[in-house]
Amino acid sequence: MLEGKVAIVTGASRGIGAAIAKKLGKLNATVIVNYQGSVDKANQVCEEIKANGGVAEAIQCDVSNFDACQEFMKDIQKKYGRIDILVNNAGITRDGLLMAMSEEDFDKVIDTNLKGCFNCIRFASRFMLKQKYGKIVNIASISGVLGNAGQANYSASKAGVIGLTKSAAREFAAKNIYVNAVAPGFIATEMTDVLPDNVKEAAVSSIPMKRFGEASEVAELVGFLASPASDYITGQVICIDGGM
Ligand code: NAP
Repeated sequence: MLEGKVAIVTGASRGIGAAIAKKLGKLNATVIVNYQGSVDKANQVCEEIKANGGVAEAIQCDVSNFDACQEFMKDIQKKYGRIDILVNNAGITRDGLLMAMSEEDFDKVIDTNLKGCFNCIRFASRFMLKQKYGKIVNIASISGVLGNAGQANYSASKAGVIGLTKSAAREFAAKNIYVNAVAPGFIATEMTDVLPDNVKEAAVSSIPMKRFGEASEVAELVGFLASPASDYITGQVICIDGGM
């Protein structure tokens, strides 16, 4: 379905990003598996994609670094000749109550989750505009829609991603570049694995489906938004949260 397309998935060394990279690989896109520090895990994701007959390469880039993102996109364009799909998935949490939150924890989360998303769109869209085609999928969060106590920094960053998605969609709509956001609820990954048991139990009881989602379930939705099957959809935020 995605033959001849070049896809970048940021933060794809594990969790949701790794599942998305594998899904896009199965759909026959050439996949750039981005990571910040986990080189072995990123290479492992590439090996799995290749074992299934796909094409993949792991490339390091800290998405919060404006200049590094410019080089990252330039290098991919130079090597592969195009950038068709950009999935902005890289994200972190630094949870804590607002009154006690350090400036560093606020800035770090905004820089990675929101500015990282801006940086990648900023430099990938240049090439998408030239080729008159692009699919951008930003991974937001239900926290950015509903808010969440203890996550002022994170929910602000994800609400920002939603605003960025809607503005970029309007800016690029006439250029055949689609921009949508996916807002997952609780998904079983390393990010949620570290939550204390009582928090996990409270989370499960707040989910109408009474279970955490799987990274592969998010990847199915991203696969749809990255493919021509979604060609009349842009500027949307699609929640994938078990009914929350
Ligand atoms: P995860 O398991 O903690 O993985 C995070 C990924 O982001 C890793 O591959 C990590 O790479 C990468 N990353 C972190 N900082 C980066 C940076 N500055 N530059 C490049 N890559 C960076 O997280 P996850 O649970 O899969 O979450 C993925 C996305 O979904 C995030 O945006 C998260 O906010 C969102 N989300 C998750 C949930 C959930 O319940 N899990 C719910 C809603 C939304 P390294 O390993 O190399 O550091």
